[in-house]
Amino acid sequence: MKILNDLLNLLFPITCAACGNVLMKNERVICLTCNYYLPRTNFHLERDNPVAVIFWGRVKIENATAFYYFNKASRYRHLIHELKYRGRKDIGLELGRIFGYEMMVSPGFRLIDLVLPVPLHKKKLIKRGFNQSECIARGISEAMNKPLDTLSVIRTVYSDTQTRKTRYDRWLNVDGIFRVSDQTVLSGKHILLVDDVVTTGATIEACASEILKVEGTKVSVAVLAMA
Ligand SMILES: [Zn+2]
Repeated sequence: MKILNDLLNLLFPITCAACGNVLMKNERVICLTCNYYLPRTNFHLERDNPVAVIFWGRVKIENATAFYYFNKASRYRHLIHELKYRGRKDIGLELGRIFGYEMMVSPGFRLIDLVLPVPLHKKKLIKRGFNQSECIARGISEAMNKPLDTLSVIRTVYSDTQTRKTRYDRWLNVDGIFRVSDQTVLSGKHILLVDDVVTTGATIEACASEILKVEGTKVSVAVLAMA
């Protein structure tokens, strides 16, 4: 099998998802150089950071962070697009892992109990085939050694694409779209809510608010990229 793998790699080399260079044997998904230059926010090291601020006065979030800055001009621009629309689940998984390892140094994140991706509606899940946030959450869960929960919260309303809407419209559009399906699993837990990107924070706010209705829960937020 190893020989077959080596041969396949020779014929169809695995390339870095960011820069396109051929990956070395010890590299996964993105090369070491791209990993090194990834525009990290390091928000997990400062409590009052720009992601945390998004939720101030809206919903009580213990800690919030984003892994990197989503910059349209950078070579990292298409990573999320590849993950979301071209089914590159490995990108979510691997970036989630790196992100997870980094969050482990932060006391605020280290003590979470569960990793929970923002769920997609069943219809959308069928259409896309997978939940991109779940891939990221799976990587985080692996790196932080915390259980992944993809069942306790469900998305009950199928909302249309959210582009070109005002914040208020989006808020109307997402309010009440999530439902907790299993209170016992979440009760008393500190939940790390995971999403791919954060822009207005409306979806995360709606999901967190629903979780916080369960007794004794706390919510922290980790998104892969910040626009
Ligand atoms: Zn690269």
